[in-house]
Amino acid sequence: MARLLLIGTGGTIAATTDAHRLTDYQVTEGIESMLAAIPGASRIADIRCEQPFNLDSRALRTADILQLARRIGQASRDPSIDGIVITHGTDSLEETAFFLHLTTPPDKPVVLVGAMRPASAPSADGPLNLLNALRVAAHPDSTGRGVLVVFNDNILAARLCTKQHTSRTDAFGHDGLGVLGHVCDGQVRYHLAAAPTPPHLLFSVRGLRALPAVDILYDYQDAPLHVYQAAVQAKVQGIVVAGMGNGSLSPAALRGCRLAINRGVVCVRASRVPRGSVTPKASDATDGLLAAHDLNPLQTRVALRLALARGMDHTSIGQLLQAL
Ligand code: ASP
Repeated sequence: MARLLLIGTGGTIAATTDAHRLTDYQVTEGIESMLAAIPGASRIADIRCEQPFNLDSRALRTADILQLARRIGQASRDPSIDGIVITHGTDSLEETAFFLHLTTPPDKPVVLVGAMRPASAPSADGPLNLLNALRVAAHPDSTGRGVLVVFNDNILAARLCTKQHTSRTDAFGHDGLGVLGHVCDGQVRYHLAAAPTPPHLLFSVRGLRALPAVDILYDYQDAPLHVYQAAVQAKVQGIVVAGMGNGSLSPAALRGCRLAINRGVVCVRASRVPRGSVTPKASDATDGLLAAHDLNPLQTRVALRLALARGMDHTSIGQLLQAL
């Protein structure tokens, strides 16, 4: 039987409310009681629980993510653990998932899971999502696929997964692409291969206690300059612009980036459009800008913070964004 580490971090999956509503709930449940609510779990795996914190995911800080990533790194080297499941709030789940995608070797299954409805709601989705996540983490076919997200019977890749709906139970998906696999009536089935981060691009979190500040600035018609000035004044080390279309920048965004670049800030053109790449432009070299390629603004921020923390220079960061 597989030996799993189940890490509870909070979120709606761990929340309840008196009013049988889907909002205004509080995180009340620990990971042990969530597991106890799934009677079949002990037939799937030998499960050990840990609870480093129990928070709404909107409140997670960099220190929490680094703590989680370090623990997962240790667990992935621990021969007494075969796979890891992390329960997590859905609001920022894709950020943690991508962070772990860039920092965790793909030797063991690492699965994130959450729920859209609190545990007290009619038809709460947490118990089945968690049961499915345990099944996926315990399954031999899940090894070597990188960090996974299990939601609404779908198996998704952390690299591609985004939250796409504010309330429905099928809130997570891959923009415009199929899912890796399904859990159907207890059976785990993969249809597509996933691409874990190649070993030479993985970041170690050893010794990291903080990460450089990187802002995401959303671009739009007649955007103002002051948000760029404020970011520079706040001494950010990076700016990711959620630009228009193929990473097009409004006049103020371009001016703001030039101003920031002159102060040593790394600026990346990403896109506010959910699908497609941001491709490099001839003018990037003269402007000192980088293109986000296939990463969305949130993923670009995660990658840029890790790259800056490890002292990567402008050219290497450009190569990294292209390779991811
Ligand atoms: N507020 C929740 C969170 O912790 C939302 C959820 O988990 O669905 O992100």
